[in-house]
Amino acid sequence: MNGSLKIGSIFDIPILIHWTFILIIPIFAWIIGSQILLTTELIAGLYQVPIDTSIISVGYIPYILGTIVALGLFAGVLLHEIAHCIVAKRKGIKINSITLLIFGGISSMEEGMPDPVVELPMALVGPLASFAVGIACSAMVYVFFVGIPDAPVAGVLVFTFGYLGLLNVFLFAFNLLPAFPMDGGRVLRAFLARKMPLHKATRIAADIGKIFAVIFGITGIFFFSPILLLIAFFIYIGASQESTVVKYSFLLKDVTVNDMMSRDVMTVAPSMPVPDVINMMYQSKHLGFPVIESGHLIGMVTLADVHRVPQIDRDAMQVKDIMTRGAITLPPAAPVIDALRIMSVNNIGRIPVMEGEDIVGIVTRTDILKVIELKET
Ligand SMILES: [Zn+2]
Repeated sequence: MNGSLKIGSIFDIPILIHWTFILIIPIFAWIIGSQILLTTELIAGLYQVPIDTSIISVGYIPYILGTIVALGLFAGVLLHEIAHCIVAKRKGIKINSITLLIFGGISSMEEGMPDPVVELPMALVGPLASFAVGIACSAMVYVFFVGIPDAPVAGVLVFTFGYLGLLNVFLFAFNLLPAFPMDGGRVLRAFLARKMPLHKATRIAADIGKIFAVIFGITGIFFFSPILLLIAFFIYIGASQESTVVKYSFLLKDVTVNDMMSRDVMTVAPSMPVPDVINMMYQSKHLGFPVIESGHLIGMVTLADVHRVPQIDRDAMQVKDIMTRGAITLPPAAPVIDALRIMSVNNIGRIPVMEGEDIVGIVTRTDILKVIELKET
């Protein structure tokens, strides 16, 4: 997902943090800090444990505790995602990355058509991990209450763990909403997929996700809650993306690169002047060409490469000065859905098709989208 920052890795899986999550920690810290007495009362009531507030409410301590709780929530979300990843790895699914978002995390899996049998335990284990963390934190409340005789110190610990217990139980419940992209949406799809094709099951789960997004959005406007609006936005986008990916996988299954590539490939030499390439683009309406040097593919030159150099410099330049070296290629037998995935991950519009050392064709995003449109009718 765009707008994410890498903060480390676990089991060789990169952990990314989305800017909304970086934003949410100070906001949460502030909200928790400014409502600390109210929340303390709530926590004391829920756990039926009196909380001494003589340290909690002094000076900056509410905001320090707010930051600790916010960071604890962050750790809880991370544990939730790690639980997904452990089950995924056991089932032989490759995890590309984990992204921590405002309302939880997203584990990016390498999956074309997800298998419901595998997906059900994988989706369930995340919320279950949150539930376990929530119960463990709640148990600590009583351990500290009974075990620490110093009431003000016990008050701080009971508050912190009591809060984290509630938040993790909330994460458990929220992620089980039967709506994409939440885990509950995957659980629902896995159940539906027993009775209907996967793309239909996905569409239903995604539609429910969009309904939830609209409900959250309206509630967010009604209560002037920007956090709820942001969550609504993410759920909507997530639901749309998921159903598109699965729909494409369904429509393009059994279609190979060979079925839809253009066979007459226009190539250019590295020594070709850039203005000539621009002319070729005008005439052919192709926005990128493979660059061939003594029979070998050495890279691609595209309109994006041309745009990277200022207009006045272009006249004096050649293809080799602006081209992108080392092109991604595919064999003719590769599934088209792989080509589409590679294009969107790398943000490229075309992939040369190679048989051994020879270019036998080129497959473009526009061609694939045209075929999808045809298949949809
Ligand atoms: Zn999850």
